[in-house]
Amino acid sequence: MYSGINYCLKCGGKLSIKNDRENKSRPICNDCGWIYYKNPIPASACLVVNSKNEILLIKRKFEPSSGKWALPSGYIEINQTPEQAAIAEMKEETNLDGEIDYFIDYFTGDSPIYQKIISFGYKMNIIGGTLEAGDDASEAKFVSYENLPEICFASHRHFIEIWKKNK
Ligand SMILES: [Zn+2]
Repeated sequence: MYSGINYCLKCGGKLSIKNDRENKSRPICNDCGWIYYKNPIPASACLVVNSKNEILLIKRKFEPSSGKWALPSGYIEINQTPEQAAIAEMKEETNLDGEIDYFIDYFTGDSPIYQKIISFGYKMNIIGGTLEAGDDASEAKFVSYENLPEICFASHRHFIEIWKKNK
């Protein structure tokens, strides 16, 4: 689980796998005692539905899953709440201004890059802007549920299914 994690981010010292105060084994710095915690990386995803009941999808420009379709989404920055991240990603990837309608669910899944991701799904309302793909999206368009292409993340498929079931 900790392969490739060798050096302290604080002082550059060598890390060794040792037990922490709770007796959990983690990489701990031999020099300054800094502890490397590996946690699921948090992300937010937006389910945006227009007046025709179509779902907003973006085509991803970068890995993971470059060239595949997904909901607008992104990692939560250190100074953001999950809700703020959802609103920011919606703007960056689709140029639409959004507000939170309601929290759909969370989903813990595998990531080829970060091992585990915890994703928060939000149903979003559109409150402004004109649709235009941006940032790490190469296309953005509304698609009916019946005509959805393959959605590349299990978390996004889960949010769509929960929304579909409850609407
Ligand atoms: Zn250190």
